[in-house]
Amino acid sequence: MTKDEFIFKSIKDGKGYAESLALWNQGHNSIRGEWTINIAESEQLVLESVEALNEYWGMKVRPLMSWGRSRTSSWGGYGGGKISLAMKRHVPADGDTRDVHLFSEYSSFAKSPTIGTFNGSWQDCLACLVAHEHAHCHENAVNHEDSWRDVYRWNRVTLKLNPSS
Ligand SMILES: [Zn+2]
Repeated sequence: MTKDEFIFKSIKDGKGYAESLALWNQGHNSIRGEWTINIAESEQLVLESVEALNEYWGMKVRPLMSWGRSRTSSWGGYGGGKISLAMKRHVPADGDTRDVHLFSEYSSFAKSPTIGTFNGSWQDCLACLVAHEHAHCHENAVNHEDSWRDVYRWNRVTLKLNPSS
């Protein structure tokens, strides 16, 4: 989610602009710790997930994985078949032993069982991120409109991220 997307969502959830900006900055600065343990597995997972979606759609999307501490937002699609992922935001730091992680979606479809907010292993949450950003690489699915939601839904099915899939 980009900064603009975050603030838009936060305002939609009823918060003011200043509060939304403060919340974003809080999240932005909350990335602490060291990452060594999960780097290889997470990069492999991203590559495999992108490959599975490329194969499903006949596309050639390329993933860029950023481990910079200041990279907190991910994006996909703009300017061609690329997704760019803020890895530290989605991959647990060394010593983070939580079993359940959260991949939150927009409030407007957060409750959807097929494209909504996802709880699960960090691996599945990271795959959800890939599914989300890969969907932006489709020509008619740049925004979070109907066509994007349909593509995203199929991406989550393809990556076996939904209970019924
Ligand atoms: Zn998006």
